[in-house]
Amino acid sequence: MKSSHSRRQFLAYSLASQTAGAAAKYDLLIRGGRVVDPSQGLSTERDVAISGRRIALLAERIPESEARQVVDARGKIVTPGLIDIHVHVYDGVAPLGIPADPNCIAKGVTTAIDAGSAGAHTFPGLRKFIINLADTRIYALLNISVVGQSTLSTDNPWGELLELRYANPKLAIRTIEQNRDVILGVKIRLTRNIAGDHDLKALGLAREAADAVRLPLMVHIGGSYSPLPAILAMMKKGDIITHSFRGGDGGILDAKGRVLPEVRAAIARGVHMDIGHGAGSFSFDTAEKTLRQGVLPGTISSDVHQFNVNGPVFDLATTLSKFLHLGLTLEQVIERATTNAANAFGFAGGLGSLKPGAEADAAVFDLQEGNFEFTDSLGAKRTGHQKLAPLATVKGGKIYGSASIPVVTL
Ligand SMILES: [Zn+2]
Repeated sequence: MKSSHSRRQFLAYSLASQTAGAAAKYDLLIRGGRVVDPSQGLSTERDVAISGRRIALLAERIPESEARQVVDARGKIVTPGLIDIHVHVYDGVAPLGIPADPNCIAKGVTTAIDAGSAGAHTFPGLRKFIINLADTRIYALLNISVVGQSTLSTDNPWGELLELRYANPKLAIRTIEQNRDVILGVKIRLTRNIAGDHDLKALGLAREAADAVRLPLMVHIGGSYSPLPAILAMMKKGDIITHSFRGGDGGILDAKGRVLPEVRAAIARGVHMDIGHGAGSFSFDTAEKTLRQGVLPGTISSDVHQFNVNGPVFDLATTLSKFLHLGLTLEQVIERATTNAANAFGFAGGLGSLKPGAEADAAVFDLQEGNFEFTDSLGAKRTGHQKLAPLATVKGGKIYGSASIPVVTL
């Protein structure tokens, strides 16, 4: 089993530390918020009661006296704990890594998937120093290159597949078999940073590893030598294209801005389109053209890392807010960071849902109204009128609070 003891206590644990009323029926009550839970088709005011690590009950009114602690969420949005399927949190080893907790659990993300920061040689450290110690629940996609993303920085712009011999399916398979509780798939980055036309060979090696362990393959697209249709031809149901709304060459649109027929065909056979905003991989222009043609992303992830955490990405909530501006409803946006993310990685029922019996992960947001300037990866700006601001997070029944939301201990 995954060890998830909480050594670093950067958030307000004291909120959850007091006990009273041994007879209380519930440990925690999130009171009066608008619960947006696409897994139940719910978008209405509900109280949410939690017992231990599980969601116990959703109802229109649950008496405060039945709970040991109450989070007052009146006027706020309550969602399942968000799932960000593309982050980089191998802080200290991959130069793009950032600390998980201030950027994930403090921002409403209870579950984050590190997408390829580690390869077979560097994964043991990701497990030992990050996954086992963070308060955020962290899973990983294993980079097909044994060095993961340890080589790449702005000062040393050389990717992990410049040397094709670093793509080692045998070692990837062994590492995944030994860590199936936390590794959920294989990651490959197809960039111009791959020697010559070796990208499809490298993709074939990643395919071999993913097939052997029967897990999804996440493919980073953008700037590769081979055109996207050749890449898509090697992808199967359950695989994931990340950076799907990128601008420039190698994306999902043709020169006239039309969604490639191969992209529609891939979606139809179950290949999953993920956002992975990142520093260079999200374009408002591409998003607007794609959405106008009726193609929506399956999941919305941030690809938050060292080189975008101070803008333009900031966090998953900001990425979701950009999609509110683009015309998705609040329910559609939350679905893409909860239900759809959970389905993509087989978290069925346990995560990304507030159904009774599910893991007690929830997030409380303020849906702010006003004028908010949003910037994409190319520097293009749009003014949105709604912004999701994270206020408090609950993971496994424990509050990771915020001073701005009243918590009552009864
Ligand atoms: Zn990434």
